[in-house]
Amino acid sequence: MEHYDAIIIGAGQAGTPLAKRLAEAGKKTAIIEKRYVGGTCINDGCTPTKAMIASARAVYQARKATELGVEVGAIKINFEKIKQRKDDIVNQFRSSSEKGLKNTKGLELIFGTARFSDKKELTISLNNGSEKKVTAEWIFINTGAKTAAPDIEGLAEINYLTSTTILDLETVPEHLVVIGGNYIGLEFGQMFNRFGSKITVLEKSSGILAKEDQDISSALTEILTDEKIELITDVKINKIAQDKKHINITLTSGKTWKEITASHILVATGRTPQTADLGLENCGIKLDDKGHILVDEKLETNIKGVYALGDVKGGPAFTHIAYNDYAIVYRNLIEDTNYTIHDRPVPYCMFTDPQLGRIGISEKEAKEKKLNYKVAVLLMSYVARGIETNETLGLMKAIVDADSKKILGAAVLASEGGEIMSVLQMAMEGDITYDRIRYCVFAHPTYSESLNNLFMNLDK
Ligand SMILES: Cc1cc2nc3c(=O)[nH]c(=O)nc-3n(C[C@H](O)[C@H](O)[C@H](O)COP(=O)(O)OP(=O)(O)OC[C@H]3O[C@@H](n4cnc5c(N)ncnc54)[C@H](O)[C@@H]3O)c2cc1C
Repeated sequence: MEHYDAIIIGAGQAGTPLAKRLAEAGKKTAIIEKRYVGGTCINDGCTPTKAMIASARAVYQARKATELGVEVGAIKINFEKIKQRKDDIVNQFRSSSEKGLKNTKGLELIFGTARFSDKKELTISLNNGSEKKVTAEWIFINTGAKTAAPDIEGLAEINYLTSTTILDLETVPEHLVVIGGNYIGLEFGQMFNRFGSKITVLEKSSGILAKEDQDISSALTEILTDEKIELITDVKINKIAQDKKHINITLTSGKTWKEITASHILVATGRTPQTADLGLENCGIKLDDKGHILVDEKLETNIKGVYALGDVKGGPAFTHIAYNDYAIVYRNLIEDTNYTIHDRPVPYCMFTDPQLGRIGISEKEAKEKKLNYKVAVLLMSYVARGIETNETLGLMKAIVDADSKKILGAAVLASEGGEIMSVLQMAMEGDITYDRIRYCVFAHPTYSESLNNLFMNLDK
C-alpha cells in the first residue's frame, strides 16, 4: 500500500494541470488514467472535432469561392488525409500532455482503472494486468462522462455511432442520421454534410437547440436547411432495425408517421457521468439522481478531502469549466484563497458555421425571471466586416438590464461568434455598460466594431 499526499483519478482537463501543479508545490502526487492522457477534450472531443470542422469549412469556402470571383474547379474530398491530419493533431496534443506529466518531479503517472475500496483508499487495476492499492490525504475525481444511449426499441441491437466512434470512420457515410439536435449532433451533422453525406437530424423538441432562444434556433435552422441538411423536429422514434445493408428508423414527427433508411446512425442525445464503476458505495460519496457526484461550492464531496472536478460533477460540461475547477481547487488548497464555483461566468461556443457564442442569460431566462430587460439585435447582413468577407449569416443578440445598463447575456450566431461573444464577456466581467460600448473605439473593420451598432439599435 503506497501513500500519497494527493491522488487524481482521470487525466482529463482538470486532473492533468492539477496533478502537475500539486507536484510542483511539493506534494507527493499520483495521477491514474485508464486510457489516454488528456481525456475527452483532446482525444474524442474538442480537438479532433475542431480539426475536422476546419476541413469541412475549407470545403464550404471552396464551394463559395465563386461568389468572390474565384473559380476553383472540381472539389474533391480526401477523407483519409482529413482523418490523418486530425489523428496527428490529437497525437501531438496527447503526447505533449503525457510528457508534461512524466517530466514533472514528484508526480507519478499510473495507467490503470481506479476504484474506491475504502474512504481514502483506491484499488488500481493496472493496464499491465496487475493490481495496486494506494491511499492519499486528498483524492480528486476527474473521471468525466461518456455517451448516454437513449431508450429506443432496437437501438442496443444495432451498430450505432457515438461521438467517439464516429471519429474512427475511414469513409464518409452515405446517409447519416443524427439523433439529437444539439451542439454535438449539429457540429457532426454539418461537418459530414459538407464532406458529402446526406444528413438527417432527428430532434425530439419542437426545434433544434431547445435551450436557446427561439430566434437563434430558427436562424440556425434556416442556415442548416439552406445547406440541405434535413431537420426533423417533434420526433418520437418508435423503432430502429438493421438488416445487412441499411438501418431502418420508424418515427412520428408531430402526427406524421415516417420511415427513414440510413447507412449510419449517430447517437448524440447527451452524456452520462463515469461514476458507476468507481466503487463509490465503498466510501459513501453521494450522487445525484443522474449519477453525478454531489459537491459543495468549493467542489468538495460529502467526504472531507475528496473532491470532484469537471463533467463528473454535473453542471455545464465544458473543457474551460473543468479547467476552472482545477484552478479553484488548487488555489484554495495551496494558495489559501477562497474561490467558489458560485456565480462564475459560463461562456460556451458551438462550432457550427456560423458559430454560436453564448454567455450569460438568454431572453427566455430574462423573461422567466421577470427582469426589466431590453434586447439588442443586429443581423450579420448589416455588419460591414461580414459583407466584405461574404460571411453574412446569423445575428448578434444581447440582453441588457434596462435600469443599470449592464449586459446580462449574449448570443452571437456569426462567423467568429465565439470571439465576438468573448468581447461581450469581458465587458460583463468589467461592468462596462452598453451605453459605453455604443461609443467604444474598435478597430475598423472588425466584427467587434459592430458592437457599436448592436447597442445603437437599443434606443431607436
Ligand atoms: C464530441 C465532443 C465535442 C466537444 N467539444 C467541446 C468544445 O468544443 N468545447 C468545450 O469546452 N467542450 C467540448 N466538449 C466537452 C469536453 O470535452 C468536456 O467537457 C471535457 O473534456 C471534460 O473534462 P473532464 O476533465 O471533466 O473529463 P475528461 O476530459 O472526460 O477526462 C476524464 C478522464 O478520466 C478517465 N477515467 C475515467 N474513469 C476512470 C477510472 N476509473 N480510472 C482511471 N481513469 C478514469 C477517462 O479515461 C478520461 O481520460 C466536447 C465533448 C465531446 C464529446
